[in-house]
Amino acid sequence: MRIVLLGPPGAGKGTQAKRLADRYGLPVIGTGDIFRDHVARGTPLGLRAKEYMDRGDYVPDEIAVSMVLGRLKEPDCRVGFILDGFPRTVPQAQALERALTEAGTPLDAVLNFKVSDEMVVKRLTNRLVCSSCGRPYNLAFKPPRVEGVCDVCGGRLTLRSDDDEATILRRLEVYRRETEPLVLYFWERGLLRDIDAEAPEQVVFDRTVEALSDLLDVDG
Ligand SMILES: [Zn+2]
Repeated sequence: MRIVLLGPPGAGKGTQAKRLADRYGLPVIGTGDIFRDHVARGTPLGLRAKEYMDRGDYVPDEIAVSMVLGRLKEPDCRVGFILDGFPRTVPQAQALERALTEAGTPLDAVLNFKVSDEMVVKRLTNRLVCSSCGRPYNLAFKPPRVEGVCDVCGGRLTLRSDDDEATILRRLEVYRRETEPLVLYFWERGLLRDIDAEAPEQVVFDRTVEALSDLLDVDG
């Protein structure tokens, strides 16, 4: 099974990716990991990517595509994969589709995790993190047992600093502007499945598995 995950920050996409990977025995392919791996190994692509990453810019399509397609040729992807964070643009999607079609292994589905801006703000503004062990909390959805104290290690909880409402809304706007054409692109190809992600983690997971079962006729 070969799937792509789309969704804004705060949609819970990363968590769902991990759970889908466990359920179906698939690797999660995240561009961040691939980029870091290339940079760490000092490959020619990695060195070029690093220049952009150091400036805080997106890695250009051509470099990103080469890295991801290379990664998808590795043996663990023979059973399929879950792509998280790629493609990000229509040209990337076209390059991916072309390569997969040539290999005779086309995409099966693109899951689009949908949440309202209000829910994203609620999820992200209430995030706390343990200053000792890094465990995440959320005042609205997953509060600590004792206010301000980590359940596991007793460390002090601090608010995540990047998460004020204006910053989140700006990130969401950028996300929607960038992703809209991509959503349309996959919808036109009959690959897009919307998942209502405005629910607890387990409910969203059940919905996702159901969507995939309908699509692939695999048992859940
Ligand atoms: Zn802790």
